[in-house]
Amino acid sequence: MANAEKKLEKPLPRPAPESRPFWEGTKQKKLMLPHCDQCGQFWFPPSQRCPHCLSLNFQWREAKGEGRIYSFVVYHRVYHPAFEGDVPYVVAIVELDEGPRILTNIVDAPENVRCDARVRVRFEEASPEFVLPKFTLLS
Ligand code: ZN
Repeated sequence: MANAEKKLEKPLPRPAPESRPFWEGTKQKKLMLPHCDQCGQFWFPPSQRCPHCLSLNFQWREAKGEGRIYSFVVYHRVYHPAFEGDVPYVVAIVELDEGPRILTNIVDAPENVRCDARVRVRFEEASPEFVLPKFTLLS
């Protein structure tokens, strides 16, 4: 039963061309966001055009890496066998101080997680190719 004993791998991101700079940034422990040259707003998820003003001109800028928990759920059920050792865990939408919201995990104990709590990014290596931005409570 060698196969049954093999450690299951968690699914990894499959970047689209427009999100590749984001994933290159996380490898350097930087949270990179597209920032519009025209209207000055950030957005996420990445796209080829600013969703606010439809400009095609933007630069990637490093976000501060802090924000607040906009919403969250606690996963008690194992939806993928590789997560069996992780339940219960927190899946959250964090609203970054720059404005965009990002789907992520809060690494703290679920009973300590509250909406509006301040959080800071924490980078976690998922594989040699991918570093995942997760968040931890600031207080
Ligand atoms: Zn814009």
